[in-house]
Amino acid sequence: MSQTVSIAVCPGSFDPITNGHLDIIRRASKLFEQVIVLVIINVDKTPTFTDNERVEMAQKAVAGLPNVTVDCFNGLLVDYVRKAGATAIIKGLRMVTDFEYEFQMALVNKKLLPYAETVFLTANNEHQYLSSSVVRQVARFGGDVSGFLPKEIYGQVIARLCPERQGANGLQ
Ligand code: ADP
Repeated sequence: MSQTVSIAVCPGSFDPITNGHLDIIRRASKLFEQVIVLVIINVDKTPTFTDNERVEMAQKAVAGLPNVTVDCFNGLLVDYVRKAGATAIIKGLRMVTDFEYEFQMALVNKKLLPYAETVFLTANNEHQYLSSSVVRQVARFGGDVSGFLPKEIYGQVIARLCPERQGANGLQ
């Protein structure tokens, strides 16, 4: 019997990647043999961090997870999923508000690529309130976001969003 590797794609803006994202990715990496964190390049949105920065930060954050890789993509998610040989799309659910949008997207993706399943992982209690935009807003005004971000990227995020805070929390 031929063996296929189970591959899941975890898409998002990751602008920047947060501890909430990382928790979902880590849990997905226990369920699938390979997980691809996919930084989506959305032409309708202007991200705070460049495509390269978002990829690089995601790479730093998942460096300790051997079966997780990072890629970026500009196009239809299901096209990437098909080409990557993946069978699952991983999504994190925080609030009911996430559900409405994600449910719609899951149905659309199912229509476009019926064999791919969207797998919803519920956000950890600690991360229910956490989003990249919350991190950006708090950091810009000098609030402490050290508990919201993977330690590997904290310095880079602060350097960009609140340079005057550099030097605090032992940062160079
Ligand atoms: P954000 O809403 O933070 O900008 P993205 O667009 O990058 O996030 O979302 C990528 C995926 O990660 C989505 O499925 C989203 O629901 C999930 N996600 C984002 N933040 C969290 C979190 N704190 N806990 C669990 N899942 C999350």
